[in-house]
Amino acid sequence: MARPTPAERRRLARHAARRRQIAGSLEEWRASAFDNALVQFDAAARRLRLTENQIAMIKLPRRITEARLPVRMDDGSIHNFRAFRVQHNIARGPAKGGIRFHQDVTVDEMKALAFWMTYKCAVVGIPMGGAKGGVVVDPRTLSLGERERLSRRYIAEMIDLFGPDRDVPAPDVNTGPQVMSWMMDTYSMHKHDFVPGVITGKPLVLGGSAGRESATSRGIVFCIRKAAARLGLELRGATAAIQGFGNVGRYSARFLAEAGVRVVAISDIEGAWHDPAGIDVGAAMAHAARRGSLRGFRGGTPLRRAARLLELPVDILVPAALENQITERNAPRVRARIVAEGANGPTTPRADALLERAGVLVIPDILCNAGGVTVSYLEWVQNRMGYYWTEARVIEDLRRIMDSAFDEVDATRRRRRVSMRIAAFMVAIRRVTEASEMRGLYA
Ligand code: NAD
Repeated sequence: MARPTPAERRRLARHAARRRQIAGSLEEWRASAFDNALVQFDAAARRLRLTENQIAMIKLPRRITEARLPVRMDDGSIHNFRAFRVQHNIARGPAKGGIRFHQDVTVDEMKALAFWMTYKCAVVGIPMGGAKGGVVVDPRTLSLGERERLSRRYIAEMIDLFGPDRDVPAPDVNTGPQVMSWMMDTYSMHKHDFVPGVITGKPLVLGGSAGRESATSRGIVFCIRKAAARLGLELRGATAAIQGFGNVGRYSARFLAEAGVRVVAISDIEGAWHDPAGIDVGAAMAHAARRGSLRGFRGGTPLRRAARLLELPVDILVPAALENQITERNAPRVRARIVAEGANGPTTPRADALLERAGVLVIPDILCNAGGVTVSYLEWVQNRMGYYWTEARVIEDLRRIMDSAFDEVDATRRRRRVSMRIAAFMVAIRRVTEASEMRGLYA
């Protein structure tokens, strides 16, 4: 066989390198979200010089519950849905965390999300621990009645886990005020009491808080304001791209547009739309409210590959969909100056390192999207008092809590010369460790 020429050898080497890169990226894409979370923990714990015993108290989930939820479907058949609730840490208060309905839910993902909740509550200083729950289901396949029966069965099956002083769920992907209402009602009926404080994210008529629906996005935009000020970036006239157009994505788009930012691209599971002159966010929100998604939206040019939205030349990128969206593969093409993590875990550790090296200011999820759990906490406080605040009062408290958390993380970043993510974990881990040590071990 003829020996390859030097040019051919170079071509084959390039080809092999590319194949290795793709294989590595796929592996990273599939990487366990919980492993990623632990990489973040370890980096901060090393800098805090935590002892083995301290780590043993706070690193891993305290309790993992898995259940099969039998639900009668509309056609009379019974379907068993796989469901989870993971309680990660309760040293600082009752467990807190959303419930997700999604076909890709896994116990690994629940562990990661519960872990992030522990440190999210701690970084903003609210007195709650971390949990997360989920059901493996594509909710688009359920009728309204099936969705209600599934929601009620979730609470009924695991009722002993929950309680206003024990574990307080909230909405997450594909769950919202209606699901929370059914869940609160199921718990209340079992307890023969009205117990609004068992769950947050309820509608206003059932003890929800003014300002809760848009709280996560308000918090994100408070963080973006602080980050922009640090970079000397004027928000008026800056540009943004937003991945995901659900609760977090659409309100982030709206608040950014209200701050004078030109939102040039938005996306959801149906695709991505781009308009360098600026998307009409109000029209997109109306379309999504009417149609349930952005499908058929005409206010921009559809991108052939939706994930290219992450690579557009914008000042601000808000990933607000799911985990592991910015990976080693696309991170080198991210051109934003600020990445504001609306979603939980959108950036893999390898991508994080690349963004850090490129000087991108990443506002980490546990800080950036903590506005939701902060107003959930304010909702829980109001439920327990039976006295309800105005929206202006809630937003004022939210701003105070978010601004002071951002400043504290930023000060730690500067003092310890670390990334915002590691600084956020350092602040949070210190609080959880102190609480665990003060409580000590029972028996
Ligand atoms: P949601 O169900 O309301 O919206 C999710 C959006 O992401 C939808 O528009 C969906 O179409 C889109 N999406 C899904 N896969 C996509 C993909 N591959 N590309 C582009 N878009 C895609 O959920 P949400 O409440 O907005 O939550 C979004 C993220 O924010 C999740 O990671 C969630 O854990 C996190 N989060 C939510 C809150 C909250 O208060 N809702 C708080 C903190 C963090």
